[in-house]
Amino acid sequence: MKTKICPRCGSDDIEWIIPQNWSQWSCNNCNYTGPVVEVDTESKEEIQENWEKHKPEILRKTAQKHDEDDDDE
Ligand SMILES: [Zn+2]
Repeated sequence: MKTKICPRCGSDDIEWIIPQNWSQWSCNNCNYTGPVVEVDTESKEEIQENWEKHKPEILRKTAQKHDEDDDDE
C-alpha cells in the first residue's frame, strides 16, 4: 500500500494547504512546504531513517538554497 508522505522527513502528518494548488502541501513535522511523494512502506522507512541521520545537514542545505534564490532576485 502506498501512502502520501513528506519527501524530506517521511512523515505522513501532512496537510493540503492550498485548495487551488494541489501540489502545495505542508508538513507538520518538519515545516516542509511543497509537493509530497507517494511511496510504499519500505521507501517511507528509508526516508525517515535518512532524515533522522542527516536532519541538521538537510536543514542547512535547505536554508542555503533559499539564500541563493534570494540573491538571484
Ligand atoms: Zn516533513
